[in-house]
Amino acid sequence: MTAPAGPIAPGAVIGILGGGQLGRMMAMAAAQLGYRSHVYAPEPREASVAAQVSDAYTQGGYDDEAALAAFAASVAVVTYEFENVAAAPLAAILPHAPLHPPARALEVAQDRVNEKSFVEALGGRPAPWQAVDSAEDLDRAVATIGAPGILKTRRDGYDGKGQWRIMTPADAEALALPATGLIYEGFVTFFGEFSVILVRGQDGAVQFWDSAENVHESGILARSTVPAPAAIAAQVPAARALAQQVAQALDYVGVLTLEFFATADGPVFNEMAPRVHNSGHWSIEGAIASQFENHVRAILGLPLGATDLVTRGAVMDNLIGDAADSWPALLADPTAHLHLYGKAQARPGRKMGHVTRLVR
Ligand code: AMP
Repeated sequence: MTAPAGPIAPGAVIGILGGGQLGRMMAMAAAQLGYRSHVYAPEPREASVAAQVSDAYTQGGYDDEAALAAFAASVAVVTYEFENVAAAPLAAILPHAPLHPPARALEVAQDRVNEKSFVEALGGRPAPWQAVDSAEDLDRAVATIGAPGILKTRRDGYDGKGQWRIMTPADAEALALPATGLIYEGFVTFFGEFSVILVRGQDGAVQFWDSAENVHESGILARSTVPAPAAIAAQVPAARALAQQVAQALDYVGVLTLEFFATADGPVFNEMAPRVHNSGHWSIEGAIASQFENHVRAILGLPLGATDLVTRGAVMDNLIGDAADSWPALLADPTAHLHLYGKAQARPGRKMGHVTRLVR
């Protein structure tokens, strides 16, 4: 039984792989619609902020096929909030419950080489890149593509982790390469960054949220603003067309995010995430249906809610590390929607919460 015959009715349990804040907000959206959530993650229950708002929790490894199968047998559908899960063991889920989005989306998105090749095959344009497995490869890549550029791990990178800026060929020479697959990308000169977030239902219909302009600090998203300025908005249709093709090619169900650089030559693809995304958190208050609600609706086979803005715009600021200590001031602002993720410890660079202000 992999394909549900029709919508899964309220009361059912959604299985979520990953125990972080995206799973937490997914579980909260599921609860609003009368569903329960069962979170599966490797960390102890006390360390999962998704577990705090979920009905059940399984502590298990993402490669533990027996535990994944037992988990799948106890839920109506499985989804994920975290893309660095190996795809192969997820086959253990399929005899017991449908998996949305498909494992293929993980395979493509979790490896920067796969991701860029996949998008290029669909006509998308990433920064010039080369796979790097040795110091010689890096020298060759820097010679071909030029510097400045960024060396990134192919896998497991997020929020600017696993990245090294190479300003000159000498920087490349001096670098002690980590023993893992890498990719060298030319540095893109952009005037802005934006994301395309879409939801694709089980009938193949696609809806987009407004694209936010995203500002990163030290490789971590700091602020998302909708609507984006006109110069960025002009690049959104081409970016949406690519995102829609990606979703179709993967037979995708759920929320999918693609990030772009806005350049003088049009949109340059940066990366994709097969999941709800930090740059879409504004949609909780700013859209008729949030990215979390529509993800839940899509994986359950329910009709999708409208993605339109409910107001003129929205600004979402991440609360990173100590910034969450400003909660008294944020609560004293009667128009600020404060979200804290329930994390016990603030560490530098750790996403502790976010705050959204609607533009009226
Ligand atoms: P990533 O984790 O690859 O999305 O990188 C995090 C951030 O680093 C991006 O959002 C950009 O601000 C910056 N960045 C990453 N790759 C490049 C690139 N090839 N050229 C310029 N900036 C980049």
